[in-house]
Amino acid sequence: MLNYSFKNLVHLLESKNEEHLNLRKKANQLTEKIFGKKVFLRGIIEFSNICRKDCLYCGIRKSNKNLVRYFIKKEDIKEIIKNSYQDGFRTIVLQSGEVEIFDRDITEIIEFTRKNFDMAITLSLGERKRKVYEEWKKAGADRYLLRIETTNRELFKRLHPDDDFDNRLRSLLYLKELGYETGTGVMIGLPGQTYEDLAKDILFFKIYDFDMLGVGPFLPSFETPLKNEKKPDFELVLNFLALLRLITGNTNIPATTSMATLDKKGREKALNSGANVIMLNYTPAQYRHMYQLYDEKICLREDEKNTFKLTENVVRRAGKILVDEKGDRVKL
Ligand code: SAH
Ligand code: SF4
Repeated sequence: MLNYSFKNLVHLLESKNEEHLNLRKKANQLTEKIFGKKVFLRGIIEFSNICRKDCLYCGIRKSNKNLVRYFIKKEDIKEIIKNSYQDGFRTIVLQSGEVEIFDRDITEIIEFTRKNFDMAITLSLGERKRKVYEEWKKAGADRYLLRIETTNRELFKRLHPDDDFDNRLRSLLYLKELGYETGTGVMIGLPGQTYEDLAKDILFFKIYDFDMLGVGPFLPSFETPLKNEKKPDFELVLNFLALLRLITGNTNIPATTSMATLDKKGREKALNSGANVIMLNYTPAQYRHMYQLYDEKICLREDEKNTFKLTENVVRRAGKILVDEKGDRVKL
């Protein structure tokens, strides 16, 4: 039995070699005990890069003037969702920068999807008033992703000139209250972040019992004030993932694009260290270069038509099986 005291969490995050591999192995064993070899698939549609905020790390922040801003029209989004369903997706994630101009369109898209396809709808549209979250839930949305980014309040403040930590947390609690499957997460390796901060992040996830935990390395973007900062060591990302699984049990944890960007085999390694979900970019190819949250985002090099096959290969290489299920949080 591992010891998960705060002190030991910090130690395990820093661990290398044997201890590190052992941690990953234990996390994989628990993942397979809960989910078998199944990996759930999510398709993400990045329908707009328009954003009112200026998060210091993000390549589509509003101060980036070297970016053509786009949005995909609602009828086109409906068509993309229809195609994704035919391609075997049973969860679609709608993501964009934070703006209110599309709120009504989102409601309509949710209603359309709910009426026509048996698939889960996840939203990742930032902070909103409670009544907007409520309207989307009533329309039929199932899940919401809103990362806390870091639980270190000082660091949060430094990185988010337009945001307030308590408001972000309140938004997450509203989402839970309204019955969304709620996901949050942090970036690993943020400038100024310590191992202690990361250990506290893990305990925060456990205490609030979130359903989904989307974490990934911080990756510098050349269009931001953090462009000269360092990327984290991928081993740290894997340690963090493994501890997430071991401590939070049955949560849904994705292998993300940012992991594959940091390490060529990042997604396979993540699927063997506690992740049980794979997120695939389903944004039409013509828009992808305009949705660069960080540099060298891997999916820019992946052909839109081949992404499904490529993903199946990634999952197979990890010794797992890609399934076409909605993949709600499993009950233990
Ligand atoms: N606007 C929405 C959704 C889009 S951003 C929101 O902020 O919630 C989605 C996620 O991308 C953010 O939560 C952040 O964790 C991640 N992200 C942004 N810039 C990044 C970077 N430079 N490196 C790694 N992840 C980044
Ligand atoms: Fe906008 Fe989200 Fe990027 Fe912040 S992280 S600048 S809210 S897109």
